This record gives sequence, structure tokens and C-alpha cells, in this order.
Amino acid sequence: MNTRRDFLQKLAASAIAFPSITSFAAATVPVVGCNTPYDGPVLRVAIMGLGSYGTRVAEAMQSCKKAKLVGAISGTPAKLKNWQAKYNIPEKNCYNYENFDAVRNNPDIDAVYVITPNALHHDQVIRVAKAGKHAICEKPMAVNAKEGQEMVDACKQAGVKLLVGYRMHFEPHTLEVIRMRKAGQFGTIRFFQGLTGFTIGDPTQWRLNKQLSGGGSLMDIGIYSINGSRYMVGEDPVWVTAQETKTDKVKFKEGVDETIQFQLGFPSGAVASCLSTYNMNNLDKFFLDGTGGWAEMWPSTGYGPIKGRTHLGELNQPIVTHQTLQMDEMSGILLAGEQPVVPVDGAEAVKDLKVIDGIYASVASGKRVDLQL
Ligand code: NAD
Repeated sequence: MNTRRDFLQKLAASAIAFPSITSFAAATVPVVGCNTPYDGPVLRVAIMGLGSYGTRVAEAMQSCKKAKLVGAISGTPAKLKNWQAKYNIPEKNCYNYENFDAVRNNPDIDAVYVITPNALHHDQVIRVAKAGKHAICEKPMAVNAKEGQEMVDACKQAGVKLLVGYRMHFEPHTLEVIRMRKAGQFGTIRFFQGLTGFTIGDPTQWRLNKQLSGGGSLMDIGIYSINGSRYMVGEDPVWVTAQETKTDKVKFKEGVDETIQFQLGFPSGAVASCLSTYNMNNLDKFFLDGTGGWAEMWPSTGYGPIKGRTHLGELNQPIVTHQTLQMDEMSGILLAGEQPVVPVDGAEAVKDLKVIDGIYASVASGKRVDLQL
């Protein structure tokens, strides 16, 4: 279990990773249209994993209109008590990791949001599906594409939906760049650059334990460049090359990558050049270049405010709390069958996992790896 010291060390690292986290208050401006009355269906969510990101989601959900935090799943009774009091969660909606399958008999919970270490997502999501509840899972959805596909299949078989916490897919600046690209305002896309990383703190945390993380920076933060390259370019890559650099073999053990650079090739001929790291700061930047214009986002995937500009000038979209907007939008997807501009389902996550598999394979072989997403 994490100590408070671990948490603070990680928070410090995250604040560097996401430069705007220190101005989080600015990111808590209510979501667009928040004052509009809403009397439609409300998604009733239980959060599994009451750690730092689970807490962030819980806080953000207090401002949701279409989603409500109603349950909690944790291995620590004291955390459950704390959440019960803080978020008005009834005892009957609290579970631990041994008994949460019983959520199947709880008519007051529609979905379980899995926010635990990466390697646990696979089994936990499959148990949620078997309990007949929709699953929302944090990124990376699994530690490889095979496990990811098993999760997709299990949810399909159980007749429940599987969504992944791709909060950027709802972020207004991001959606504006995607809208402009689709409208042809950048011409033909030729190049994407994604730089994502931060200096990680506490060497004992699960993110640096392959058994729990499934890898290193690529799993945790590099995935933003992978996923971002796909929604910014608007295509799925067909090949990848990758190179790893490791300066600290004690902190970053076998199978835990410190820094990886990777290149992606897309069917149109567009290419991407990306960097994922646990050993550099100020890396949270996207650049998209086309024959008719360009877009830059910096910060591009932190908690906000996201900032962007294009060849036409500054982007000036509303500043939102990502997780509030995400959960309201996911409510629309799960309860009203709405379709997001960029998919957030399990199949979308499997594509990212195939790229991750390809990157690790390319690092190992030193060769270009073909991808079939
Ligand atoms: P964290 O360490 O702060 O929290 C993890 C939680 O899982 C803790 O409450 C811990 O007690 C619990 N847990 C259950 N079983 C565990 C075990 N066997 N070992 C260790 N912890 C265990 O981590 P976090 O930062 O909240 O990350 C959780 C997930 O959320 C990860 O998959 C991460 O990639 C993802 N995440 C996503 C975002 C985002 O912006 N979408 C941001 C941060 C983290």
C-alpha cells in the first residue's frame, strides 16, 4: 500500500509531468453547459482503487450532471470509511477485492471504474463483466494486446460495455484540432511529433515494478503519444521502429523502460516521431504538420489547462475538468448509446496495446515491426 510520502513524491513527479497541475484550480472551471438543467439518466459508478487517480476522478465526479459516484472498492477498510463519509457512499455499495463479484446483486450500481495498477486491470475488468456491470478501465487497459482482447471478448460475451479512461478524447482543444484536420485546414497530414514524459520519483512505487506496471514509461505516459498520434493524424500506423535508452539500470530494472523513442508510419505516408520517458521534465507536447498548416499543443495531455495554437492563431476552447467531462460523456455512451468523436472503447485500447507490443518487439529486435491494428 502506498504511504503518504510515496503519494507526495509521486505527486511532485506528476506536477512536473503535467506542468499545469499546480494550477489545478484553473482546471476546475465547470464543464460546458453545466448550468443547463438535466433530468435524463444518471450513470451510477463504483470506483475500484482509491489511490491518487481514483481520488481525482471521485472529486471531479462531484460536478458531474450525468454520472454519480455511488460505490467504492478497496483493500483498505479505512479508505472505504473515509470515502463513505466524504462522498456519502452507503455501506451496501462498498466492497473489497475479494468480494466485489457480489456487485452483480447490487441494482444501484451500473458501472465499475477500475483505477488500479495496470497489470491488475485484465482480471478485474473480466470479473466486473462477469458480474454483469459495465466496465470503465484506466489506461493502459492491459499490459499487452492479447490480454486487452480477452477483456474486450469477456465484456462482449457478458453483454456489457467496456470503456477506457481516454479523457483527452473529450477535451475541447483536442477536439478542435481534430475538427480542423477533418475539415482539411491542415491540408494533407505529413508529420506528428509526440513528446510525453516526466521524472519519476519513489523507486519503490508500482510503476517501476514490471509485475504491476507491465513495463515502464511507455505503458504509463508514452501511451499518450501513441494514442495522440492516432487521433491527431487520423490514421492507424502500419509500422513502428523503436530505440531504448537506459541511464539507470538500478531504478529501471529489466522490462521497465526509462526512455524509448519510436517512429510510426501511417498508410498515407505520414510519419510520427515520439519520445516516452521517466527521466525528463517538460515533455507534454504534440505537433502536427500538414501541407496546408500546423497545430501545436503544449501542454497536450496533462490535466489542464490544455493550450494550443495553429497556423491560424491561438486555440481558445473552454477549459474543463477532464474527468468531469469524461464521466458525463461516458454516461451518454453507456446509457444513451451516444458515439464519441474519437472512440473510447476496448477495441480502441487494443489498438494502442498492439502498438506498445510492436514498440517493445522493435526495441528487442532492432528491426522495423509491421502493425495490423
Ligand atoms: P496509485 O498507486 O495512486 O493508486 C492505485 C490504487 O490501487 C491504490 O489505491 C492501491 O491501494 C490500489 N491497489 C490495489 N491492488 C494493488 C496492488 N496489488 N498493488 C498496488 N496497489 C494496489 O496509482 P494511480 O496513479 O491512481 O494509477 C492507477 C491507474 O490509473 C493506473 O492504471 C494509471 O495508469 C491510471 N492513471 C490514469 C491517469 C489519467 O490521466 N487517465 C492518471 C493517473 C493514473
